[in-house]
Amino acid sequence: MASFDGKRLSGIQRQLHSHLPSDPALRVKSLESLLVDKGYLDSGAVDAWVEIYSEQVGPKNGAAVVARAWCDPAFKARLLADGTAAVAEFDFVGRHNAKIVAVENKPEVHNLVVCTLCSCYPLALLGVPPTWYKANEYRARAVREPRAVLAEFCVVLPPGVKVRVWDSTSEARYFVLPQRPDGTEDLDEAALAALVTRNAMIGTALVQAPGEEKEA
Ligand code: FE
Repeated sequence: MASFDGKRLSGIQRQLHSHLPSDPALRVKSLESLLVDKGYLDSGAVDAWVEIYSEQVGPKNGAAVVARAWCDPAFKARLLADGTAAVAEFDFVGRHNAKIVAVENKPEVHNLVVCTLCSCYPLALLGVPPTWYKANEYRARAVREPRAVLAEFCVVLPPGVKVRVWDSTSEARYFVLPQRPDGTEDLDEAALAALVTRNAMIGTALVQAPGEEKEA
């Protein structure tokens, strides 16, 4: 049986932790530097992915999916039955490395998405997650007091509306299919997509008809 010196090991662990930067961004930078040094990662590739997700992939992908679902009942049925397959019908840039699950807002149910563990998010549909989505406060409070969190985002739901909170993971990324606002019957798919915001697809906003007040 292998023997080990527990005291020595805990000393090494303490030393390692004392050298870790406290800021998560610095930790990521350190990890990246280490992987580049070891030849496991090309820093140019990291920059290219960050640019793709910040500049090319964004909420407009998700908005196109929502608008299609509003206009095409057969697509909507496919989206709700198998989000990953329905989204694959679009030729989006970016990897779909987890199952995509669409959850539909209805007059009696409002859906809210969070990742309580870290920041799991449907990147290919919504781009880079907002800072608040990754914050401890949102991750804890979205589950504990979703209505209070929604009110802070200026979403005040009638008492009869149920709130369902979905916890995204590395295996399943949830995405809200918001309700189509009244007064948009004459709009085409592109005009409808322009109304759909990132927050509406996380559940922290409602989609407004043209002319209605936009989210802050
Ligand atoms: Fe996560």
